Amino acid sequence: MQAFPSRRGSVLQRVRLWFDAGTAGAVRSGNAQRIDWVRALPFLAMHLACLGVLWVGTSPVAVTVAAGLYAVRMFALTGFYHRYFSHRAFRTSRGVQFAFALVGASCAQRGPLWWAAHHRQHHRHADTSLDPHSPAVYGFLWSHAGWFLTPAAFPTDLERVADLRGYAELRWLDRYDMAVPLLLGMLMYGLGALLHVVAPSWGTSGPQMLVWGFFVSTVVLFHATVTINSLAHRFGRRRFATRDDSRNNFWLALLTFGEGWHNNHHFYPGSARQGFRWWELDLTWYGLRLLAALGLIWDLKSVPPWVMRKATP
Ligand SMILES: [Zn+2]
Ligand SMILES: [Zn+2]
Repeated sequence: MQAFPSRRGSVLQRVRLWFDAGTAGAVRSGNAQRIDWVRALPFLAMHLACLGVLWVGTSPVAVTVAAGLYAVRMFALTGFYHRYFSHRAFRTSRGVQFAFALVGASCAQRGPLWWAAHHRQHHRHADTSLDPHSPAVYGFLWSHAGWFLTPAAFPTDLERVADLRGYAELRWLDRYDMAVPLLLGMLMYGLGALLHVVAPSWGTSGPQMLVWGFFVSTVVLFHATVTINSLAHRFGRRRFATRDDSRNNFWLALLTFGEGWHNNHHFYPGSARQGFRWWELDLTWYGLRLLAALGLIWDLKSVPPWVMRKATP
């Protein structure tokens, strides 16, 4: 029996949520744990749009912009969405906080409050049924790219981010989470169109820069980020005997600018540094050190000596 189909919200209501997530609490679903395919359409469309490379072609400048935006945005995600907003591993000014929240929001991984609230839930209940994305509980695919497309995961639990919810600008980014990615897409199109006119020998165009600079860069960035939810809880070494399945994995650390030292991180999440040994490559940590040297962030929390004494060889 199909009970109360209208409680899921009409298609129009769910389309509205693409642009205004603030009303998410108003829509109740009988299938809170199942993927809402209407709401998921923009996510699927971003992947399909990458096939546009077959039509728009490629150029060194478009690929360079895509790689540059991957790097800058990966740093914003790991340094700020993760280490700052989720774990408060250092302090900064309201202006710098907003600037990196804005760059993070351009990654199409929802707003900083949503991201931090779910990540805090992950740490609190890692690899139990209350963890939103445990591969041990839900399987690889669900932990990688299924869980956040469900009505259960759409709203932001503001109780979990009580320290951040007082910032109106962060609540705005959280509510209108499509705005910044849309703006970046338009900027990319404009940049490509401009270069097409002023530097035709570079061989780019509006559509080409849109596909490479926004769609390809954002989709690759997304899949790299969520390997930490899926692969870093399955493949790698365990230095610390944590209660979860977190692993240290060099290749994932390389891809995600340091997040692959995930067993280190689960054992001591409060540190701004995740590669605990000098040879554990942690590009985000080096970037944070640079921002600290410039006076933009301060009070970076480090790894206390007792932590390393708990390490198994
Ligand atoms: Zn984890
Ligand atoms: Zn974390």
